[in-house]
Amino acid sequence: MELVRWLVIHPSLCLGIRQDEKMTMQSSIGMTGVKTFSLDRVDAFLRDRVAPQAEAMDHDVTLLQQRFAELGARGWLGLRIAQEWGGLALGDREFRQFQELLAQYSGALAFLQAQHQSAGSFLSQSPNRVLQAQYLPQLAQGAVAMGVGFSHLRRAGEPLVKATAIAGGYRLTGTIPWITGFGIFSEFIGAAVLPDGQAVYGVLPLATTQVASGTLHLSPPLALAALTATNTVTAELHDWLLPSEQVVFMRPAGAIHDSDRRNVLQHSFYALGTAQAGLAIVAQALPQREFVRSPHAALTQELHQCRTAIYNAEQRSVEAQLQLRAWAIDLAVRCAHAGVVVSAGAANGLSHPAQRVFREAMLFSVTGQTTAVMAATLNQLAQPRSPDSETAAQAISLNLW
Ligand SMILES: Cc1cc2nc3c(=O)[nH]c(=O)nc-3n(C[C@H](O)[C@H](O)[C@H](O)COP(=O)(O)OP(=O)(O)OC[C@H]3O[C@@H](n4cnc5c(N)ncnc54)[C@H](O)[C@@H]3O)c2cc1C
Repeated sequence: MELVRWLVIHPSLCLGIRQDEKMTMQSSIGMTGVKTFSLDRVDAFLRDRVAPQAEAMDHDVTLLQQRFAELGARGWLGLRIAQEWGGLALGDREFRQFQELLAQYSGALAFLQAQHQSAGSFLSQSPNRVLQAQYLPQLAQGAVAMGVGFSHLRRAGEPLVKATAIAGGYRLTGTIPWITGFGIFSEFIGAAVLPDGQAVYGVLPLATTQVASGTLHLSPPLALAALTATNTVTAELHDWLLPSEQVVFMRPAGAIHDSDRRNVLQHSFYALGTAQAGLAIVAQALPQREFVRSPHAALTQELHQCRTAIYNAEQRSVEAQLQLRAWAIDLAVRCAHAGVVVSAGAANGLSHPAQRVFREAMLFSVTGQTTAVMAATLNQLAQPRSPDSETAAQAISLNLW
């Protein structure tokens, strides 16, 4: 019951998101005019359908899949898909707010749908009209669910997955270390590197498949501490044939690094949402413990500053954006930790909300990580935070022993 109560108080209200700001995001879009998107509607859905089951959704694949399908039924799985294909073609700002809002309620749902929305976004940029017509309208509704497996392109050195051009397509061999959504997504967009450094992206089945010409073997879902129900697997490809008809697009050598530099802040919105989830747990302790008030207010204020800076950082330098992302990661971890601390020993229970949020903060510290993000995060964590003797004196004066 307590859990429901703190989630009913929408955490973003604590951060001063103005009602008029929320209202202006409302729009009525779509081919038929029947689809509408507003953060208020998303928020209401999350409160009713996700908040009461957020802990179960972290482990229960069926439940997570049901809620994912419910997003699709509302037209919210095609947010990055063009309207001509039945999507809502949401702008960057609204999409980021959507991601942030989801992360406040369930990291698993936020992360799962993000993979599918990435697949929709990739296909929307494809020159392959046949493939677009085959998939995009279905992806927009969630009738077909699709993941992605391309983050290995970030790794330096020998490519993890190599492609060789052959008549009618490409042969792929290698290891894709991360693909989320096994058992939920039927396909994924994988990526492999050609000898000249170009990357080919194409649609592959998200199932172990053996054909005469080659194999695609998936591992069992990895035993991960966070977002367990999202079922992340590894794929081994051996001479897998990717026909030209299944090719989404080609990217020049190093394109992923350019894209990462343009999208430094992209993953910050999960961290901002997780920070709010942590603070909402802290807020539950306010009525019982007066000393929670000041740290809660300080973290809320800092989060408000960080959030405002991130939403207004579009024109700032890459270095400044890296610092902001690192700040959001650090803040998510601190707010989640504060949620653990006010929950005391109970936070060690595997099904405690503070435990889940803490694990999510850990995960969102590294998703979409690049070397530059890794370095910025470490520098942020290494900032000196010596104890403030005034605070200690205050605790003593409050006679909290
Ligand atoms: C649970 C989970 C699910 C995921 N699901 C997906 C998915 O569905 N699809 C997908 O595409 N990705 C997925 N990812 C990948 C995710 O985005 C990656 O965590 C992220 O890209 C970092 O990659 P990595 O963990 O493999 O680390 P690495 O690739 O090993 O390292 C991250 C970056 O740091 C650099 N680096 C590594 N070590 C060093 C070092 N010592 N010094 C300097 N630089 C270094 C690398 O070159 C790279 O740029 C998932 C990750 C997790 C944890």
